[in-house]
Amino acid sequence: MTHSCIHWFRKGLRLHDNPALVAALRECKELYPVFILDPHLLDKTRVGLNRWRFLVGALTDLDHSLQKLNSRLFIVRGKPEDVFPVLFTKWKITKLTYEFDTEPYSVSRDRKVSDLAKEHNVEVVYKVSHTLYDIDRIIEENNGKAPLTYNRMQAVVKTLGPPKRPIPAPSMEDVKGLKTPHSEDDVNHYSIPTLDELGHDTSELGEEPFPGGEQEALRRLEEKMKNTGWVCSFEKPQTSPNSLSPSTTVLSPYVTFGCLSARTFWWRLTEVYKGKKHSAPPVSLHGQLLWREFFYTASVGIPNFNKMEGNPVCTQVDWDANDDSLAAWREARTGFPFIDAIMTQLRREGWIHHLARHAVACFLTRGDLWISWEEGQKVFEELLLDGDWALNAGNWQWLSASTFFHQFFRVYSPVAFGKKTDKNGDYIKKYLPILKKFPAQYVYEPWKAPHSVQQAAGCIVGKDYPRPIVEHEVNSKKNIQRMKLAYAKRSGKSDESPNKKQGAKRKAPSVVDMLKKKGKK
Ligand code: FAD
Repeated sequence: MTHSCIHWFRKGLRLHDNPALVAALRECKELYPVFILDPHLLDKTRVGLNRWRFLVGALTDLDHSLQKLNSRLFIVRGKPEDVFPVLFTKWKITKLTYEFDTEPYSVSRDRKVSDLAKEHNVEVVYKVSHTLYDIDRIIEENNGKAPLTYNRMQAVVKTLGPPKRPIPAPSMEDVKGLKTPHSEDDVNHYSIPTLDELGHDTSELGEEPFPGGEQEALRRLEEKMKNTGWVCSFEKPQTSPNSLSPSTTVLSPYVTFGCLSARTFWWRLTEVYKGKKHSAPPVSLHGQLLWREFFYTASVGIPNFNKMEGNPVCTQVDWDANDDSLAAWREARTGFPFIDAIMTQLRREGWIHHLARHAVACFLTRGDLWISWEEGQKVFEELLLDGDWALNAGNWQWLSASTFFHQFFRVYSPVAFGKKTDKNGDYIKKYLPILKKFPAQYVYEPWKAPHSVQQAAGCIVGKDYPRPIVEHEVNSKKNIQRMKLAYAKRSGKSDESPNKKQGAKRKAPSVVDMLKKKGKK
């Protein structure tokens, strides 16, 4: 027992499957679990109210769990590079542990803190546990490059074998003889922040369908896993974007904040699958976790992954700047009820189904508004509980047909797509009650309803609900042509899209191959 140790919680807000925390306990006499309220996090345009509420819930839960181990969580206010030197000295720290984080902001932050630790003779130990695999190993195994197709990704992870098994949360036995010294002053000084302290107007808060925290995450995981038939037959494309209660697990916010370990999720699924016939990647739940791994790997292997410019695999598109249309999309005022209902759910609850994300992302970008995916990425980052740097950037590139997916001529209709799984428009009526009295025939296109129908429904289009801001049929056709041009520029041809030529059924081409071709020229 020689060390005084700080375990630095950032993501990874859990005790289970937390190898860095376990490393902290090794030969440790004093443990200081710390979370830093970094001003980077406090930017309201990046982290919205619902996400903050989730985070505060997760921190409160973590503090309770640590208290059960006779410890506690210290919330430290300030920049990591400013607060650590003070804490190292104040608590006579000799070891710092944390979970490895691949996000560029985190990598540069952690480098600064590691340098400071060295200056203070503090040993730094970090462990990989946010992803299924060590992302660097995947890249190494793929000859130093991120796999750019799912098939390739599957082949690479196959050679690595199954992900590591999760480790249990520390028990009382593991923390025997270990202390977390703290005074009465510390209780106030390092307290969990309130939403008021963070400067949010809490009057805007609605119900909390997905409360933050590890206990809640594990409870939800178990609840889902009990339904073995559902788990074994899960196929993502068969789930519905507009069911009244979620048709997928909604474990994403918990995985994003690390309240739930992706490896725990993976191995729990393996247990459920055992001996049973079950669906397979890419559509199964294992397959969903591999999508996560796929985008994480891409985010590490591709420079400027959250941008178009300077991103070598991203098609360069001449997106329009149109603040009015962007605001209408963000504020659920496009006049397309399916799109507006989704954006309302996003703002109110912080989670929307994957295919609902498809619909609104396609609408904003190549489908209708021709606005850059980077703008959509920003709005999602602020509003999604599961807002994740790598997954958000990767999926926006996919949906805008900028990277990974190239069938830009396949456009989602903001009218027909939602009807497939919700003919009556119950989802729209839930989130846009102004349209509640419209007959099913018109609920997706209220502007087509005769005036008498609008009057009877108590909603006049253009007065009580907006007219559509674009003509979908016209814009989508025009945008396909614009996309065709962008692709032609990319491949150096003038009149033909590479994919059209090779047929819609062709599997997404590897962008690595394209780059190789470019390099050879
Ligand atoms: P389930 O279907 O139950 O899947 C289980 C888990 O697999 C999820 O919790 C998630 O961790 C992972 N997963 C599922 N689908 C994907 C996917 N397409 N890519 C990566 N991982 C996946 N997901 C985020 O977690 N954060 C984001 O910021 C994010 N931004 C997105 C932006 C756009 C434009 C789109 C189209 C998708 C985005 N996604 C993002 C991916 C996906 O929509 C969500 O992960 C999923 O809908 C979460 O719901 P769930 O937990 O019920 O998923």
